[in-house]
Amino acid sequence: MDGVTELGYVRFGVSDLSEWRDFATSLLGLQIVEDGAPDTLFLRTDYWHHRIILEQDACDDLTTAGFRVAGAEEFAALQRRLKDAGVNFEQGSDEQAAQRCVLDVMSLSDPAGNPLEIFHGPQIDTHKPFHPSRPMHGRYVTGEGGVGHMILRNAGLDDTYAFYRLLGMRGGIEYKITTPDGNVAEILFMHCNSRDHTVAFGPPSTKSINHLMLEVDNLDDVFMTYELVQASQYPVMISPGKHANDHMFSFYFATPSRWLVEIGWGGRPATHQSEYYTRDTYGHDSSKDMGPGMSIDTPKE
Ligand code: FE
Repeated sequence: MDGVTELGYVRFGVSDLSEWRDFATSLLGLQIVEDGAPDTLFLRTDYWHHRIILEQDACDDLTTAGFRVAGAEEFAALQRRLKDAGVNFEQGSDEQAAQRCVLDVMSLSDPAGNPLEIFHGPQIDTHKPFHPSRPMHGRYVTGEGGVGHMILRNAGLDDTYAFYRLLGMRGGIEYKITTPDGNVAEILFMHCNSRDHTVAFGPPSTKSINHLMLEVDNLDDVFMTYELVQASQYPVMISPGKHANDHMFSFYFATPSRWLVEIGWGGRPATHQSEYYTRDTYGHDSSKDMGPGMSIDTPKE
């Protein structure tokens, strides 16, 4: 079945756009697109016009996860499938498509109320190679795997699985972690391309987003970012380590909006056969408490 093919873009409401501008450029090296609307920042990681949209908004949360489909036929077919399944969606206007620099867009929510868009036809600026706003050893890994992955809030893993299966993703439980109170926490991972997972669900969260993972193609960029973060006001929330499922070597730090960014390197392609893990390969110790409602995706054990 033709479903979504990648996480194409993400949009966030941020309460302090100027702080975010500094965070996104000096720590992440993202490129700012200067033709954005007022109170809006478009950020690039590759040839796309943008991969991240920041808008002045007090929510400090995800306002759109934008999933791509291949083209107009797949867009129409997915609308029919959603309609048949009784899932409400709203066809976007020409203005909304133009604002997102895509050919067509619709909006909907997942079972937990996470705001989603499905689109086709992003604007690709092949005449403007990605130019990081601070030195990088390598580049961000996007391509067929999309902008990265996210852990989102969920309202039950069974309903969540059924919904994202409807969008064309596949996946399953990849972690069963025994928590300090003796319970077992399960984490669900879903993929739609070669990236091990595009969305994951499990930890409780008051925000829609727990973290956004951006992958780099050079390990030196992970540790360069790590040093920059350590010298900044933004706490490292999970120390460098390696995930058991996607083999990503990564660390996590807090954003100005108090959700997390994970910078990773070395992720392996999605596996077809299901398997699960009880802890990470090594590292990934969580060192700080961000406060109620904020938790991490993969405690060590
Ligand atoms: Fe992650």
